[in-house]
Amino acid sequence: MPKILIIEDEEAVRENLLDLLEAEDFETIAAANGRIGVHLAISEVPDLILCDIMMPEIDGYGVLTALRQEPSTATIPFIFLTAKSAKSDFRQGMDMGADDYITKPFTRSELLSAIMNRLEKYATLKRYLSPQIVNNNLSPKMQLLEISLHRAIKQHNFQEFEIYYQPIVDIASGKIVGAESLLRWQSPELGMIYPTEFIPLAESTGLIIPIGKWVLKRVCQQIKSWRDAGINSLIVAVNLSAIEFNQPDFIHNLVNFTSVNNLEPHDLEIELTESMIMQDVNSAIATMSKLQSLGVKIAIDDFGTGYSSLIYLKNLPINTLKIDRYFIHNVAKDSQKSAITKALIQMAHNLNLDVVAEGVETEAELGFLRQHNCNSMQGFLFSRPLPAAEFENCLFTNKCLYV
Ligand SMILES: [Mg+2]
Repeated sequence: MPKILIIEDEEAVRENLLDLLEAEDFETIAAANGRIGVHLAISEVPDLILCDIMMPEIDGYGVLTALRQEPSTATIPFIFLTAKSAKSDFRQGMDMGADDYITKPFTRSELLSAIMNRLEKYATLKRYLSPQIVNNNLSPKMQLLEISLHRAIKQHNFQEFEIYYQPIVDIASGKIVGAESLLRWQSPELGMIYPTEFIPLAESTGLIIPIGKWVLKRVCQQIKSWRDAGINSLIVAVNLSAIEFNQPDFIHNLVNFTSVNNLEPHDLEIELTESMIMQDVNSAIATMSKLQSLGVKIAIDDFGTGYSSLIYLKNLPINTLKIDRYFIHNVAKDSQKSAITKALIQMAHNLNLDVVAEGVETEAELGFLRQHNCNSMQGFLFSRPLPAAEFENCLFTNKCLYV
Protein backbone atom coordinates (compact mmCIF):
# COMPACT_ATOMS: atom_id res chain seq x y z
CA MET A 1 0.00 0.00 0.00
CA PRO A 2 1.27 3.50 -0.75
CA LYS A 3 2.79 5.21 2.27
CA ILE A 4 1.65 8.77 2.97
CA LEU A 5 3.39 11.22 5.29
CA ILE A 6 1.20 13.88 6.89
CA ILE A 7 2.97 16.97 8.23
CA GLU A 8 0.43 19.07 10.13
CA ASP A 9 0.76 20.89 13.45
CA GLU A 10 -2.96 21.08 14.29
CA GLU A 11 -3.79 17.85 16.05
CA ALA A 12 -7.49 17.75 15.11
CA VAL A 13 -6.72 18.13 11.40
CA ARG A 14 -3.91 15.60 11.61
CA GLU A 15 -6.09 12.97 13.31
CA ASN A 16 -8.87 13.58 10.84
CA LEU A 17 -6.50 13.05 7.90
CA LEU A 18 -5.07 9.90 9.47
CA ASP A 19 -8.56 8.41 9.97
CA LEU A 20 -9.57 9.27 6.46
CA LEU A 21 -6.47 7.80 4.80
CA GLU A 22 -6.36 4.70 6.98
CA ALA A 23 -9.98 4.00 6.08
CA GLU A 24 -8.80 3.95 2.45
CA ASP A 25 -6.07 1.42 3.38
CA PHE A 26 -3.15 3.78 2.97
CA GLU A 27 -0.14 3.27 5.17
CA THR A 28 0.26 6.53 7.11
CA ILE A 29 2.90 8.31 9.14
CA ALA A 30 2.42 11.66 10.82
CA ALA A 31 4.60 14.52 11.98
CA ALA A 32 3.49 17.33 14.30
CA ASN A 33 5.95 19.88 12.91
CA GLY A 34 8.17 20.60 9.93
CA ARG A 35 11.41 19.45 11.52
CA ILE A 36 10.05 15.99 12.39
CA GLY A 37 8.41 15.93 8.95
CA VAL A 38 11.74 16.39 7.14
CA HIS A 39 13.38 13.66 9.28
CA LEU A 40 10.54 11.21 8.65
CA ALA A 41 10.50 11.94 4.93
CA ILE A 42 14.21 11.12 4.68
CA SER A 43 14.11 8.02 6.89
CA GLU A 44 10.81 6.58 5.62
CA VAL A 45 10.81 7.73 1.97
CA PRO A 46 7.01 7.85 1.68
CA ASP A 47 5.17 7.66 -1.66
CA LEU A 48 3.47 10.99 -1.08
CA ILE A 49 3.59 13.91 1.36
CA LEU A 50 0.69 16.06 2.55
CA CYS A 51 2.05 19.17 4.24
CA ASP A 52 0.51 22.15 5.99
CA ILE A 53 1.98 25.56 5.11
CA MET A 54 1.58 27.52 8.33
CA MET A 55 3.63 25.80 11.03
CA PRO A 56 6.01 27.04 13.72
CA GLU A 57 9.81 26.61 13.24
CA ILE A 58 10.00 25.21 9.72
CA ASP A 59 6.90 26.05 7.69
CA GLY A 60 5.64 24.11 4.67
CA TYR A 61 7.79 26.07 2.22
CA GLY A 62 10.86 25.26 4.34
CA VAL A 63 9.95 21.54 4.37
CA LEU A 64 9.53 21.49 0.61
CA THR A 65 12.85 23.28 0.05
CA ALA A 66 14.70 20.85 2.34
CA LEU A 67 13.19 17.77 0.68
CA ARG A 68 13.82 18.95 -2.87
CA GLN A 69 17.54 19.25 -2.06
CA GLU A 70 17.80 15.66 -0.85
CA PRO A 71 18.16 13.16 -3.76
CA SER A 72 16.13 10.43 -2.02
CA THR A 73 13.14 12.72 -1.40
CA ALA A 74 13.44 15.17 -4.33
CA THR A 75 10.81 13.52 -6.52
CA ILE A 76 8.28 12.43 -3.88
CA PRO A 77 4.89 13.96 -4.76
CA PHE A 78 4.25 16.87 -2.43
CA ILE A 79 0.80 18.36 -1.79
CA PHE A 80 0.28 21.52 0.24
CA LEU A 81 -2.65 21.71 2.65
CA THR A 82 -3.63 25.11 3.84
CA ALA A 83 -6.40 27.39 4.96
CA LYS A 84 -4.92 30.18 2.90
CA SER A 85 -6.70 30.52 -0.36
CA ALA A 86 -4.94 33.57 -1.75
CA LYS A 87 -3.70 33.16 -5.31
CA SER A 88 -0.22 34.38 -4.40
CA ASP A 89 0.30 31.56 -1.86
CA PHE A 90 -0.87 29.05 -4.38
CA ARG A 91 1.64 30.33 -6.94
CA GLN A 92 4.47 30.49 -4.42
CA GLY A 93 3.93 26.83 -3.49
CA MET A 94 3.74 25.65 -7.09
CA ASP A 95 6.76 27.71 -8.12
CA MET A 96 8.78 26.04 -5.40
CA GLY A 97 7.98 22.66 -6.90
CA ALA A 98 4.87 21.47 -5.06
CA ASP A 99 2.76 19.07 -7.10
CA ASP A 100 -0.63 20.18 -5.93
CA TYR A 101 -2.34 22.46 -3.48
CA ILE A 102 -5.49 21.76 -1.50
CA THR A 103 -7.35 24.48 0.35
CA LYS A 104 -8.89 23.67 3.72
CA PRO A 105 -11.67 22.82 4.32
CA PHE A 106 -11.56 20.17 1.62
CA THR A 107 -13.93 17.31 0.95
CA ARG A 108 -12.90 13.69 1.24
CA SER A 109 -13.20 13.18 -2.49
CA GLU A 110 -11.13 16.29 -3.29
CA LEU A 111 -8.36 14.99 -1.09
CA LEU A 112 -8.47 11.42 -2.42
CA SER A 113 -8.60 12.43 -6.05
CA ALA A 114 -5.57 14.74 -5.58
CA ILE A 115 -3.69 11.87 -3.91
CA MET A 116 -4.60 9.25 -6.50
CA ASN A 117 -3.68 11.58 -9.35
CA ARG A 118 -0.25 12.24 -7.93
CA LEU A 119 0.44 8.61 -7.04
CA GLU A 120 -0.38 7.50 -10.56
CA LYS A 121 1.85 10.12 -12.17
CA TYR A 122 4.65 9.24 -9.76
CA ALA A 123 4.38 5.52 -10.57
CA THR A 124 4.65 6.27 -14.28
CA LEU A 125 7.58 8.60 -13.72
CA LYS A 126 9.42 5.98 -11.65
CA ARG A 127 8.99 3.44 -14.43
CA TYR A 128 10.59 5.79 -16.94
CA LEU A 129 13.35 6.98 -14.65
CA SER A 130 14.59 3.68 -13.27
CA PRO A 131 16.26 2.37 -16.47
CA GLN A 132 18.73 5.27 -16.59
CA ILE A 133 19.45 5.09 -12.89
CA VAL A 134 20.32 1.41 -13.15
CA ASN A 135 22.38 1.77 -16.32
CA ASN A 136 24.71 4.37 -14.85
CA ASN A 137 25.79 1.93 -12.17
CA LEU A 138 26.41 -1.16 -14.29
CA SER A 139 29.54 -3.19 -13.59
CA PRO A 140 31.72 -4.15 -16.61
CA LYS A 141 30.27 -7.67 -16.49
CA MET A 142 26.74 -6.30 -16.55
CA GLN A 143 27.63 -3.94 -19.40
CA LEU A 144 28.87 -6.91 -21.42
CA LEU A 145 25.67 -8.76 -20.56
CA GLU A 146 23.65 -5.79 -21.72
CA ILE A 147 25.48 -5.50 -25.05
CA SER A 148 25.05 -9.23 -25.64
CA LEU A 149 21.38 -9.06 -24.72
CA HIS A 150 20.77 -6.22 -27.18
CA ARG A 151 22.57 -8.16 -29.89
CA ALA A 152 20.71 -11.40 -29.14
CA ILE A 153 17.40 -9.63 -29.59
CA LYS A 154 17.97 -7.03 -32.27
CA GLN A 155 20.57 -8.70 -34.54
CA HIS A 156 20.15 -12.38 -33.86
CA ASN A 157 16.42 -12.23 -33.58
CA PHE A 158 16.06 -14.43 -30.47
CA GLN A 159 17.96 -17.38 -32.02
CA GLU A 160 20.02 -17.72 -28.83
CA PHE A 161 16.86 -18.07 -26.73
CA GLU A 162 15.04 -21.27 -26.03
CA ILE A 163 11.95 -22.05 -24.01
CA TYR A 164 12.15 -25.00 -21.62
CA TYR A 165 9.11 -26.71 -20.15
CA GLN A 166 8.93 -28.11 -16.65
CA PRO A 167 6.12 -30.65 -16.24
CA ILE A 168 3.37 -30.01 -13.70
CA VAL A 169 1.91 -33.28 -12.45
CA ASP A 170 -1.43 -34.07 -10.85
CA ILE A 171 -0.53 -35.74 -7.56
CA ALA A 172 -3.60 -37.98 -7.35
CA SER A 173 -3.48 -39.39 -10.89
CA GLY A 174 0.27 -39.05 -11.48
CA LYS A 175 -0.39 -37.58 -14.93
CA ILE A 176 1.19 -34.53 -16.52
CA VAL A 177 -1.47 -31.82 -16.59
CA GLY A 178 0.61 -28.84 -17.57
CA ALA A 179 4.00 -27.22 -17.81
CA GLU A 180 5.66 -24.02 -16.76
CA SER A 181 7.52 -22.35 -19.60
CA LEU A 182 10.96 -21.11 -18.61
CA LEU A 183 13.24 -18.97 -20.71
CA ARG A 184 16.89 -19.93 -21.31
CA TRP A 185 19.53 -17.88 -23.08
CA GLN A 186 22.54 -19.62 -24.58
CA SER A 187 24.90 -16.77 -25.38
CA PRO A 188 27.86 -17.60 -27.67
CA GLU A 189 30.05 -15.20 -25.69
CA LEU A 190 28.83 -15.80 -22.15
CA GLY A 191 27.46 -19.34 -22.11
CA MET A 192 24.15 -20.38 -20.54
CA ILE A 193 22.49 -17.50 -18.73
CA TYR A 194 19.55 -18.00 -16.42
CA PRO A 195 16.58 -15.63 -16.19
CA THR A 196 17.55 -14.58 -12.65
CA GLU A 197 20.63 -12.97 -14.22
CA PHE A 198 19.27 -11.38 -17.35
CA ILE A 199 15.63 -10.60 -16.54
CA PRO A 200 16.44 -7.76 -14.10
CA LEU A 201 18.69 -6.27 -16.77
CA ALA A 202 16.01 -6.77 -19.41
CA GLU A 203 13.55 -5.00 -17.13
CA SER A 204 15.81 -2.04 -16.46
CA THR A 205 16.61 -1.58 -20.16
CA GLY A 206 13.07 -2.09 -21.40
CA LEU A 207 14.20 -5.16 -23.41
CA ILE A 208 11.76 -7.18 -21.33
CA ILE A 209 8.96 -5.94 -23.63
CA PRO A 210 10.23 -7.60 -26.84
CA ILE A 211 11.42 -10.64 -24.82
CA GLY A 212 8.05 -11.10 -23.12
CA LYS A 213 6.24 -10.77 -26.41
CA TRP A 214 8.51 -13.32 -28.03
CA VAL A 215 7.99 -15.81 -25.16
CA LEU A 216 4.21 -15.49 -25.32
CA LYS A 217 4.22 -15.92 -29.08
CA ARG A 218 6.56 -18.95 -29.00
CA VAL A 219 4.55 -20.62 -26.21
CA CYS A 220 1.32 -20.18 -28.19
CA GLN A 221 2.94 -21.67 -31.30
CA GLN A 222 4.24 -24.56 -29.22
CA ILE A 223 0.82 -25.30 -27.70
CA LYS A 224 -0.63 -25.24 -31.20
CA SER A 225 1.89 -27.77 -32.46
CA TRP A 226 1.12 -30.05 -29.48
CA ARG A 227 -2.61 -29.70 -30.17
CA ASP A 228 -1.98 -30.68 -33.80
CA ALA A 229 -0.10 -33.74 -32.55
CA GLY A 230 -3.16 -34.78 -30.55
CA ILE A 231 -2.13 -33.54 -27.11
CA ASN A 232 -5.10 -31.83 -25.50
CA SER A 233 -5.91 -30.54 -22.04
CA LEU A 234 -2.42 -29.35 -21.30
CA ILE A 235 -2.14 -25.97 -19.59
CA VAL A 236 1.05 -24.03 -20.18
CA ALA A 237 2.05 -21.39 -17.65
CA VAL A 238 3.93 -18.25 -18.61
CA ASN A 239 5.81 -16.08 -16.10
CA LEU A 240 5.17 -12.41 -16.49
CA SER A 241 7.20 -9.43 -15.39
CA ALA A 242 5.48 -6.42 -13.82
CA ILE A 243 6.45 -4.25 -16.79
CA GLU A 244 4.85 -6.61 -19.31
CA PHE A 245 1.76 -7.01 -17.16
CA ASN A 246 1.35 -3.22 -17.08
CA GLN A 247 1.79 -2.73 -20.83
CA PRO A 248 -1.41 -1.26 -22.28
CA ASP A 249 -1.30 -3.66 -25.25
CA PHE A 250 -0.51 -6.79 -23.23
CA ILE A 251 -4.03 -8.26 -23.38
CA HIS A 252 -4.35 -7.32 -27.04
CA ASN A 253 -1.13 -9.22 -27.86
CA LEU A 254 -2.19 -12.22 -25.82
CA VAL A 255 -5.57 -12.43 -27.57
CA ASN A 256 -3.83 -12.04 -30.90
CA PHE A 257 -1.30 -14.85 -30.28
CA THR A 258 -3.95 -17.27 -29.05
CA SER A 259 -6.38 -16.56 -31.88
CA VAL A 260 -3.85 -16.82 -34.75
CA ASN A 261 -2.90 -20.23 -33.35
CA ASN A 262 -6.53 -21.30 -32.87
CA LEU A 263 -6.04 -21.76 -29.15
CA GLU A 264 -8.50 -21.35 -26.34
CA PRO A 265 -7.41 -18.76 -23.76
CA HIS A 266 -7.78 -21.44 -21.05
CA ASP A 267 -4.82 -23.28 -22.58
CA LEU A 268 -2.71 -20.55 -21.00
CA GLU A 269 -2.01 -19.69 -17.39
CA ILE A 270 -0.34 -16.42 -16.43
CA GLU A 271 1.93 -16.51 -13.37
CA LEU A 272 2.07 -13.31 -11.34
CA THR A 273 3.90 -12.68 -8.09
CA GLU A 274 2.38 -11.12 -4.99
CA SER A 275 4.66 -8.09 -5.20
CA MET A 276 3.59 -7.41 -8.81
CA ILE A 277 -0.02 -7.31 -7.73
CA MET A 278 0.63 -5.26 -4.61
CA GLN A 279 2.44 -2.52 -6.55
CA ASP A 280 -0.95 -1.27 -7.63
CA VAL A 281 -3.68 -3.57 -6.40
CA ASN A 282 -6.61 -1.88 -8.13
CA SER A 283 -5.10 -1.73 -11.57
CA ALA A 284 -3.74 -5.29 -11.18
CA ILE A 285 -7.20 -6.58 -10.25
CA ALA A 286 -8.69 -4.80 -13.27
CA THR A 287 -6.20 -6.45 -15.65
CA MET A 288 -6.56 -9.85 -13.96
CA SER A 289 -10.35 -9.69 -14.17
CA LYS A 290 -10.15 -8.85 -17.85
CA LEU A 291 -7.83 -11.81 -18.45
CA GLN A 292 -10.04 -14.13 -16.45
CA SER A 293 -13.17 -13.02 -18.29
CA LEU A 294 -11.39 -14.02 -21.50
CA GLY A 295 -10.79 -17.46 -19.97
CA VAL A 296 -7.06 -17.13 -19.25
CA LYS A 297 -6.09 -18.78 -15.97
CA ILE A 298 -4.14 -16.87 -13.37
CA ALA A 299 -1.67 -18.25 -10.84
CA ILE A 300 0.06 -16.56 -7.95
CA ASP A 301 3.70 -17.60 -8.18
CA ASP A 302 6.19 -18.14 -5.32
CA PHE A 303 3.40 -17.73 -2.80
CA GLY A 304 4.45 -17.10 0.79
CA THR A 305 7.68 -15.23 0.13
CA GLY A 306 6.23 -11.84 -0.74
CA TYR A 307 3.64 -9.83 1.02
CA SER A 308 1.72 -12.91 2.15
CA SER A 309 -1.39 -10.92 1.56
CA LEU A 310 -3.81 -13.50 2.81
CA ILE A 311 -6.58 -10.96 3.17
CA TYR A 312 -6.22 -9.82 -0.41
CA LEU A 313 -6.17 -13.33 -1.72
CA LYS A 314 -9.92 -13.71 -1.42
CA ASN A 315 -10.48 -10.56 -3.47
CA LEU A 316 -8.12 -11.53 -6.26
CA PRO A 317 -9.40 -13.11 -9.46
CA ILE A 318 -7.07 -16.12 -9.47
CA ASN A 319 -7.27 -19.84 -10.17
CA THR A 320 -4.07 -21.29 -8.79
CA LEU A 321 -1.71 -20.83 -5.89
CA LYS A 322 1.88 -21.95 -6.37
CA ILE A 323 3.55 -22.53 -3.01
CA ASP A 324 7.14 -21.35 -3.04
CA ARG A 325 9.89 -23.98 -3.01
CA TYR A 326 11.20 -22.56 0.27
CA PHE A 327 8.22 -24.05 2.13
CA ILE A 328 8.34 -27.33 0.24
CA HIS A 329 12.02 -28.04 0.84
CA ASN A 330 12.14 -30.49 3.76
CA VAL A 331 8.43 -29.88 4.48
CA ALA A 332 7.84 -33.32 5.92
CA LYS A 333 10.48 -32.90 8.64
CA ASP A 334 10.33 -29.17 9.40
CA SER A 335 7.36 -28.68 11.71
CA GLN A 336 6.97 -24.95 10.96
CA LYS A 337 7.05 -25.46 7.21
CA SER A 338 4.60 -28.34 7.43
CA ALA A 339 2.17 -26.27 9.53
CA ILE A 340 2.35 -23.35 7.08
CA THR A 341 2.06 -25.54 4.00
CA LYS A 342 -0.89 -27.43 5.44
CA ALA A 343 -2.65 -24.14 6.25
CA LEU A 344 -1.90 -22.71 2.79
CA ILE A 345 -3.35 -25.75 1.05
CA GLN A 346 -6.45 -25.68 3.21
CA MET A 347 -6.96 -21.95 2.78
CA ALA A 348 -6.51 -22.18 -0.99
CA HIS A 349 -9.04 -25.00 -1.19
CA ASN A 350 -11.54 -22.97 0.84
CA LEU A 351 -11.15 -20.26 -1.80
CA ASN A 352 -11.62 -22.84 -4.58
CA LEU A 353 -8.06 -22.50 -5.80
CA ASP A 354 -5.83 -25.23 -7.17
CA VAL A 355 -2.55 -25.66 -5.34
CA VAL A 356 0.76 -26.42 -7.03
CA ALA A 357 3.81 -27.21 -4.90
CA GLU A 358 7.03 -25.90 -6.42
CA GLY A 359 10.46 -27.46 -6.07
CA VAL A 360 9.41 -30.96 -4.96
CA GLU A 361 12.61 -33.01 -4.75
CA THR A 362 12.05 -35.96 -2.44
CA GLU A 363 9.56 -38.78 -1.88
CA ALA A 364 9.01 -37.52 1.67
CA GLU A 365 7.99 -34.09 0.40
CA LEU A 366 5.64 -35.65 -2.14
CA GLY A 367 4.18 -37.95 0.52
CA PHE A 368 3.39 -34.97 2.73
CA LEU A 369 1.73 -33.09 -0.14
CA ARG A 370 -0.32 -36.14 -1.12
CA GLN A 371 -1.45 -36.65 2.47
CA HIS A 372 -2.66 -33.04 2.62
CA ASN A 373 -4.41 -33.10 -0.76
CA CYS A 374 -2.15 -30.70 -2.63
CA ASN A 375 -3.39 -30.81 -6.24
CA SER A 376 -0.21 -30.76 -8.27
CA MET A 377 3.56 -30.75 -8.03
CA GLN A 378 6.48 -29.50 -9.98
CA GLY A 379 10.13 -30.25 -9.28
CA PHE A 380 13.20 -32.39 -9.84
CA LEU A 381 11.59 -35.44 -8.24
CA PHE A 382 9.56 -35.80 -11.44
CA SER A 383 11.53 -33.74 -13.93
CA ARG A 384 13.78 -30.74 -14.37
CA PRO A 385 12.78 -28.14 -17.01
CA LEU A 386 13.16 -29.75 -20.43
CA PRO A 387 13.63 -28.56 -24.02
CA ALA A 388 10.31 -28.76 -25.90
CA ALA A 389 11.23 -31.97 -27.73
CA GLU A 390 12.15 -33.78 -24.51
CA PHE A 391 9.00 -32.59 -22.76
CA GLU A 392 7.00 -33.82 -25.74
CA ASN A 393 8.67 -37.18 -25.33
CA CYS A 394 7.37 -37.37 -21.73
CA LEU A 395 3.87 -36.71 -23.05
CA PHE A 396 4.03 -39.29 -25.85
CA THR A 397 5.46 -41.98 -23.60
CA ASN A 398 2.86 -41.14 -20.90
CA LYS A 399 5.53 -40.57 -18.31
CA CYS A 400 3.73 -40.64 -14.96
CA LEU A 401 4.47 -39.92 -11.37
CA TYR A 402 4.59 -43.08 -9.28
CA VAL A 403 1.22 -43.15 -7.50
MG1 LIG B 1 6.94 -19.38 -12.03
